[in-house]
Amino acid sequence: MSTIPENPSSPPNSGMAVEIDPKPRFWGERSYSKAFATSLPLLIITLLIRWQFRETLGERGLYSTFLPAVIIAAHFGGVWPGLTLTLLGVLGTNLMLSSHILKLDPKATADSLALLMFVGTGIVISVLSESVHRTYQRNLILERRRQAQLAIQQTEERFTHLMRHSSDMIGIVAPDGRILYVTPSVKRILGYQPEERIGQNIQDDPIVHPDDRAATLAFFKLISERPGISVNAEFRLRHANGNWRDIEAVGQILLDESGALIINCRDVTDRKQAERTIHENEQRWGSLTKMLPQLIWTANADGTVDYYSPQFMKFTGKTSEELYQEGWENLIPEEDYSAVISQWKACVASSENFNLEFRIRGADGISHWFKVQAVPVRDYDGTVIRWLGSCTDISELKQAEADLLAAKDNAETANQAKDEFLANVSHEIRTPMNAILGMTNLLLDSSLDEYQHDLMQTVKSAGDNLLTIINDLLDYSKMDAGKLELELTPFSPGQTVQEVVNMLQPRIETRNLKLICEIGESVPETVLGDASRLRQVLMNLLTNGIKFTPSGEVKVSVELSDRNEEQIALTFHVQDTGIGIAPERQHSIFEAFEQEDTSTTRKYGGTGLGLTIASRLVRAMQGEIQLQSTPGKGSTFSFTAVFRPPESSEQITSVDSSDVPDAQEQSRALKILIAEDNEFNVKLLEQLLKQQTHSYQVATDGEQALRLLQLEQFDLLLLDIHMPLKDGFEVARELRSREAETQAESRLPVIALTARSTPQIREQCLAAGMDDLVTKPMQPEELWQAIRRVCPAPTDSSHPPSLIDCQMVRATCGENVELLQVLIESFLENVPAQLIELREVHSRGDLAALREAAHKIASALRTFSATAGQLALKTEEAALAEDSDECDSCVAQLVDCCERLWPQVKTLSLELLVN
Ligand code: ADP
Repeated sequence: MSTIPENPSSPPNSGMAVEIDPKPRFWGERSYSKAFATSLPLLIITLLIRWQFRETLGERGLYSTFLPAVIIAAHFGGVWPGLTLTLLGVLGTNLMLSSHILKLDPKATADSLALLMFVGTGIVISVLSESVHRTYQRNLILERRRQAQLAIQQTEERFTHLMRHSSDMIGIVAPDGRILYVTPSVKRILGYQPEERIGQNIQDDPIVHPDDRAATLAFFKLISERPGISVNAEFRLRHANGNWRDIEAVGQILLDESGALIINCRDVTDRKQAERTIHENEQRWGSLTKMLPQLIWTANADGTVDYYSPQFMKFTGKTSEELYQEGWENLIPEEDYSAVISQWKACVASSENFNLEFRIRGADGISHWFKVQAVPVRDYDGTVIRWLGSCTDISELKQAEADLLAAKDNAETANQAKDEFLANVSHEIRTPMNAILGMTNLLLDSSLDEYQHDLMQTVKSAGDNLLTIINDLLDYSKMDAGKLELELTPFSPGQTVQEVVNMLQPRIETRNLKLICEIGESVPETVLGDASRLRQVLMNLLTNGIKFTPSGEVKVSVELSDRNEEQIALTFHVQDTGIGIAPERQHSIFEAFEQEDTSTTRKYGGTGLGLTIASRLVRAMQGEIQLQSTPGKGSTFSFTAVFRPPESSEQITSVDSSDVPDAQEQSRALKILIAEDNEFNVKLLEQLLKQQTHSYQVATDGEQALRLLQLEQFDLLLLDIHMPLKDGFEVARELRSREAETQAESRLPVIALTARSTPQIREQCLAAGMDDLVTKPMQPEELWQAIRRVCPAPTDSSHPPSLIDCQMVRATCGENVELLQVLIESFLENVPAQLIELREVHSRGDLAALREAAHKIASALRTFSATAGQLALKTEEAALAEDSDECDSCVAQLVDCCERLWPQVKTLSLELLVN
């Protein structure tokens, strides 16, 4: 605030008060002490001198001794001390003079005159001294006044400068309200020139906001009524540009005779605006915290909560004071307390966001779940100045989560039940299917007339279709439930493709269709993956190809598309020249139950699941099935599947025909225990085993199986997994532990029979001590292969492998012993001779004759042995191809085979054939 000028009537820029000594200080300037101190030594010195010259001067001289002292005293002490001293001097002198007169000094008159002169001189000196002194004093006062004027002037200049450059607007107002002066800052603050404002009456100033007129008048009145006291006011003034500026004014009446007022006006528009913004923000914050369902709070930088929103208080049923006193911590249940507090402290210490779910006790006494979050608020240099926090009630969410978990548990239980159900259904369906298909196969292999054979063939293909549908549905539901798991075993991809082709070959034999298989040279011999799933995909694509290609060719090829240390990617193509697929249907056929149109179902059958399953299987092998098809020209299905390279130690353990000894080596008669409770399956197994001249016994439950195993010696156990009393796993485990206890010399091979063939079941079977697994419905060839794998041919020749094809022999002679006998005799009579002839023409190198001889002997040999018949045909082909090297090898093999065959045919009886 500006200082009020001393003299308000002076120009508005007149100065500040300067301190002037009100009276001249004579006594201060000329002090007695000075006079005394100066006169005394002078007096002494004078006396000493006079004393020395007293003879000469006489006593009269003493009078003038006081003179210098008087003069000095007069000078320093002023007129009165001067006079006083002079008079005292006179008095002393007179006393001395009197004594002198008494001594009758003749020069008294002269002395008196001298004395008078002395007095007169003293008085003159005193008066002169006083006059000089007064002049000096006057000059001093003038000098001081001049200096004071200068100081005032400087102060005024400073004041003027201050006023001119003050950021505030300072005005001097006459007692009647007229503005006498205003600082130039009025231009900056209000946009007016000072001249525009001077002369305006502040009691009726047009630039005062209409709403603030009364306040301005009151302000003016108050200043006028209370001299010497500062009065404050706030009002708005209109800027030259029309905007309103907020002004904070301080006014005071000037303490001089003019009675003018000085008013300091400060532009506080920005501050007011900031205040308004803060106020608005506060209002907004207040309404927000009231409105939000969350409990809002803020805390100091040290984590002490300093604000609770109304919702917080409402929820807890406590006043803010209670909350401040008791602290929010008291509302946390004991179980959550330490975790919450330690985390909050850690967050405050590290200035990291706080985010935790915990319970807070409400006014109802119940602890509700809250998601509590807090973020630090930082100032410009990053220092945390406070915390903003919110608590969101998640009790319902927590409840829903708990419900969801319970529902998930239920769903998992239900899913498990569904899995169980599927497994059971699978088992229940496959078991009778096993019997139906098995028996059909047996019937088809028996001697049927053409009509019966056709009927049975129809039953067989219907059964096969039904089994495919069941398998597809079970696979589909398994995939739908996300239960698809791929095995990781070594297998040969090329061989797998070839196997599928071989299996499908019979289907095209009667049709004008060629099935071609191409295996790229770079395709690795062994990869790690799921061979059976790959086979399933190829089987589906090839079956479709064959199904939808009336004539032409169906080609399957495989090539290596990528290989690194971790992956081997193989690309498969299945191409046909069939009916093709309409472009608009090409995408949807991969969707479940999609077929090109309903007529397809009628004409070709199928469920529309095959491609869905195939594409999902390929996806599981990290690939995608692509389709290119032109209606009427054919389709190409391509996919890339990713496998892993085998570890060097890994050997192919899956079905691999190269590992399986050929039929000749395998067909030794085995004593087999069939542990199976289903009578159809038992019958089927009996029939199948009889075909292979194996003998068997049957146990219809697990315990019986274990008993029989204890009583008798068997070569093989065919063990059903689902059996009463003891299931297959228990039987296998008990058998193995018995073998371990008795330190049995040989380990009984066990093949599991199951309708469920999942990787887990396989693992469980192997873990229980079984050696292999055959899935129902049983394909005879699969069973034989499994038997060959687990019961390799003995190295000694005690059981020469049977070359006799019992099935074929039986098909020829049924149960007619005589016929069999005739057949045997005729065979032994003719065929060895034919062999001799064959060897003879071969030794001559007559390939034409060899071809004929081989052809002739082939049909004879096939009556008893398919293997021998096959070798004869191979010889015929080699002769036809005029490949003499091949002929040599074929003839050698044929001769060897026949030499082993003769004794077996000789000892063949119907009984052996049947059992
Ligand atoms: P389905 O069991 O009915 O054959 P898929 O999923 O295997 O089921 O095939 C779905 C449909 O896709 C078939 O019904 C057929 O319309 C069409 N399709 C599949 N493969 C071929 C093909 N090679 N040539 C022509 N149409 C095909």
